[in-house]
Amino acid sequence: MTEDARTAGLRAQVAELMPQAKSDLAQLVSFKSVADPRQFPPEECDRAAQWVADAFAAAGLTTVGLHETPDGSTAVVASRPAPAGAPTVLLYCHYDVQPPMDEGAWRTPPWELTERDGRWYGRGSADCKGNIVMHLTALRALGPDLPLGVTLVAEGSEEQGTGGLERFVEAGPDLLRADAIVIGDCGNFAAGVPTLTETLRGNVNVVVTIETLAGPLHSGMFGGPAPDALAALIQVLASLRDKRGDTTIDGLPNDQVWPGVQYPSEQFHADAGVLRDVELTGAGTVADMLWARPALTVLGIDAPPVVGSAAAVPAIARARLNLRIPPGTDPAQAYRALVDHLDAHTPWRAKVTIELEGMGAPFRSRTGGPARAAMEAALAASYGRPATTQGQGGSIPLCNVFSATYPDAEIMLLGVEEPKCLIHAPNESVDPKEIEHMALAEALFLATYAG
Ligand SMILES: [Zn+2]
Repeated sequence: MTEDARTAGLRAQVAELMPQAKSDLAQLVSFKSVADPRQFPPEECDRAAQWVADAFAAAGLTTVGLHETPDGSTAVVASRPAPAGAPTVLLYCHYDVQPPMDEGAWRTPPWELTERDGRWYGRGSADCKGNIVMHLTALRALGPDLPLGVTLVAEGSEEQGTGGLERFVEAGPDLLRADAIVIGDCGNFAAGVPTLTETLRGNVNVVVTIETLAGPLHSGMFGGPAPDALAALIQVLASLRDKRGDTTIDGLPNDQVWPGVQYPSEQFHADAGVLRDVELTGAGTVADMLWARPALTVLGIDAPPVVGSAAAVPAIARARLNLRIPPGTDPAQAYRALVDHLDAHTPWRAKVTIELEGMGAPFRSRTGGPARAAMEAALAASYGRPATTQGQGGSIPLCNVFSATYPDAEIMLLGVEEPKCLIHAPNESVDPKEIEHMALAEALFLATYAG
C-alpha cells in the first residue's frame, strides 16, 4: 500500500529536520538542568528554560512566557490560539533531568550528546529532552499554519517531585486548557513498536532516620550491647522485601495481576541489563511486577562511607525510600501502611523519624475519544504497524491533576523513551529513529485531529 501524499510529505520533512533535531538535543543535553540547587547551579535550569522558550517561538508558537511555579521553578508555556471552532492540543514535556549519578559509570560524558552504535547518549537525551525535540520537530514539520490550537508546556522540576506545575495548573487552569493532552514523557514498549501508555503507578517517597546513641562509639569497647543504628536500619529495610523480592508492606496487597500485554522475561532481562545468571525478582510475571503490584526501592542510604569509616558503632543512619503503587491503590493509604510498617519493624525501640517527601496517585487514561483515534492512526501510519498499549511503572502525578482539572480532555501518554534508553540511570540514550518516528506521528496527529 502506498502512503498518502500528506504522510509522505511530512515523512520527508521530518527526515530533513533530523540533523537540526540532533544539534538541538546536543544543546539541550549540555544544560545541567537538575532542579536541585544543592547539586547544580540554578542558572543551568534558567538557561534550559530560555532555550526552550526561544526554540518554540522560532517554531511558530506566538505567545511565549516563563512562569514561576509554586515550588520556585520555571515552567515554559508557549501557545498559538486555535482557529475558530478548532480544538486545542496541549503538548507536555519537562526540561529538568535526573542527576547523572555515578559519573564514573558513564561510558561517554553525561552532559555531551555522543553518538555510539547509532544511539545518542547523554543525561536527558530521552527523558525528557528527546521528547522536547520530538514536539519541536513535529511543529517545525507542520510549519506555522496549524489547523488547531497548540499549547506547549515544559516543566522545570518534574524529576524532583515537588509538584510545582501541579499547583500552577490548579491555581490558573485556563492557561493550559485543552481538548487533548499529549504527555510526551513516556515511550514505546520497544523501539519500533508504537505504544500508548494506559496506566501509571503512583508513588510515595519517604526518608526514614534511625537514631540509637548520643554519638558513634568505639566498636571494640561498646560493640555488642550498644544499639547500632545502621544495623537497625538494615533490619527495617530487609523487612520490606521477602526472599523472592516481592514487596512486603503490612496491609498493602502484592498479588495483583496485569490483564494486558505481557512483557517476556527474557526481553526484560535484556532491556534492564540484568547481569547474566542474576534472577528477576517477585512471584508474578514481569508485567504483574512492573505495572500491577507495589514495588519498594531503597534510593539512598546515609551511613559512614567505606573509605574514611572508623571502627565505630554508628549512632544514626538514614535511608530514602521510594514506593511505587499500582492503579487501585490510594497513595495516602499506602503512605500510612508504609509508616506503620517501618515503625513496627524497627528493632530495639530505636528512635525512628519518617519524613514524607511527596506522593502521587496512580493513573489510568481514558479511551474511545476522537483524539485517541487520531493518535492511533498517526502512530500506525508513522511506524507501518498498529499501535499497542502498555502500563508503565513510573508515575506522573501531573496526569491526575490534568484529568481532575480538565475532565473532558483526552490524555495520551507517549514519547521516545523505550527500555533501552536506561532513563534515570548512567548511560542514558535515545534511538534517533524513535525521535523521527514519534515526531512524524505527532505531526500527523496534529494535522488530522482537527478533522
Ligand atoms: Zn521524564
